[in-house]
Amino acid sequence: MSRNKSAIITGSTSGIGLGLAKVFAKAGYNIMFNGLESNGAEIAAQVAEEFGVKTRFAGANMLKPEEIQAMVKEAEEAFDGIDVLINNAGVQFVAPIDEFPEDRWNLIIGVNLNSVFHTTKAVWPGMKARQFGRIINITSAHGIRASEYKSAYVAAKHGVTGLTKVLGLEGAPFNITCNAIAPGYVKTPLVEGQIADQAKAHKLSEQEVVEKIMLYKQAIKRFINLESLGQAALFFASEYSSETTGITLPMDGGWSSQ
Ligand code: NAD
Repeated sequence: MSRNKSAIITGSTSGIGLGLAKVFAKAGYNIMFNGLESNGAEIAAQVAEEFGVKTRFAGANMLKPEEIQAMVKEAEEAFDGIDVLINNAGVQFVAPIDEFPEDRWNLIIGVNLNSVFHTTKAVWPGMKARQFGRIINITSAHGIRASEYKSAYVAAKHGVTGLTKVLGLEGAPFNITCNAIAPGYVKTPLVEGQIADQAKAHKLSEQEVVEKIMLYKQAIKRFINLESLGQAALFFASEYSSETTGITLPMDGGWSSQ
């Protein structure tokens, strides 16, 4: 019997990661779930039941390399190797530079940038040995454009854009590709938190933040659809993207075309 393909998706017990996990499970992938939500194991079990695939949950903290390594080892053993790694876990904090707390800076760089190095380093030997690997980084329009008050987030996401290029080059001899998807705004718990924070920073109502700040930069004035992100990620996971590597695909309603 042929084995199902498998994916590790970080931060997959909420928002975009959970949406991606469902799209991949529907396509027949076994999934290693990860995230800090306390109901992670239940979410993983529900997805397994709904789509008839195997799932696991690891609450590995993306700030702790040894927990990341243990999660990768568990997934490799449970699913007989890892085909796809989606680096999605992320956090945000919004404040002017002179008020930006040091611990928030370190947290954002740690989760949004450093963890991508640690997860990738952990899956790399297995992908190399099996001569197949797909690494997909969920960056952001802020990986290619900047906005005020988001110094740490923009720095981290631009860092991942660069790392994506390097991994594309290093993976080429081993049939490992690495690409990024850079969404505009997607309505998830992370964005709902930002709406409140931006309202405070800009002294605006929450409705005004959505209209005047968030979707203002997108030519298409809609939040980005989760299913669309999932289908783009499936393309990067497939054989059809074998010659596509190191790129960042903006899915931002035209924001980065300006
Ligand atoms: P979310 O808050 O809904 O989900 C984030 C996930 O990351 C959660 O499961 C959380 O538990 C996990 N996480 C956070 N810190 C962690 C840690 N230390 N260890 C392990 N897991 C951790 O957010 P989201 O909107 O779904 O964002 C997902 C990704 O998409 C992030 O990288 C974010 O930067 C990016 N993104 C989001 C948007 C948007 O508009 N929502 C736009 C562009 C990019």
